[in-house]
Amino acid sequence: MKAELQQQWKLLDLQKLDTRLDQIDHRLANLPQAKELAEAKATADSATEEMVLAQTAVSDVEREISRSEADVEQVRERAARNRKRLDAGQGTAKDLQALQHELDTLARRQSVLEDTELEIMERAEELRERLDGFTKAADAAEVKVKELKDAMAADSKQLDAERAQVASKRADMAPTINAELLTEYDRIRARSGVAAAALHGRRCMGCGLELNASDLARIKAASADTVVNCDECGRILVRTAESDV
Ligand SMILES: [Zn+2]
Repeated sequence: MKAELQQQWKLLDLQKLDTRLDQIDHRLANLPQAKELAEAKATADSATEEMVLAQTAVSDVEREISRSEADVEQVRERAARNRKRLDAGQGTAKDLQALQHELDTLARRQSVLEDTELEIMERAEELRERLDGFTKAADAAEVKVKELKDAMAADSKQLDAERAQVASKRADMAPTINAELLTEYDRIRARSGVAAAALHGRRCMGCGLELNASDLARIKAASADTVVNCDECGRILVRTAESDV
């Protein structure tokens, strides 16, 4: 293929822009916060799950307290009724003795029920503290998730802006390059990302290998407007002032 050397040099400039676009795309796809965000999301999810379980446990224990309070209240009311009847002194001595006996039984029963209620309340206190801890952990994890999302959005925005700038330069430059040369460039680029490389000394800057004497002689012999490729990597090898030819 033939193309003026100046046209070939343009490929090197185009390649710089394309390489920059590739780098930006790679950075956009691999933002440094992505891994941390995935971890923070997992932490937030499990903290929320624990929090929901703790909430259920607290609701359950609160129902237990209500039931326990109702039990105590029932015994208290019954004792109050018996005491009233006893204080009124109505009925036979045997009746009154029976009432007194029941009052003693109720007092013991009330004491047991109150102990139970106290135990439940202590358990409720522990469960509420647990819930508090999980709620704080879930909130903290959500804050972390938001911070990371914000940081990623800021980085993405910056990279998108730079990408737009570079893409616009590329759009301006591409039409100034010989169509056939550009097609060849695009074909190689689709295969290996880098399509055009400078010849620095005897080294192809695409694959980094030094050309052997016969390849170098072949390139030396080729006219300036002949498009040559690296024998090692197949990329368009562009001769510049720094080339050893
Ligand atoms: Zn090469």
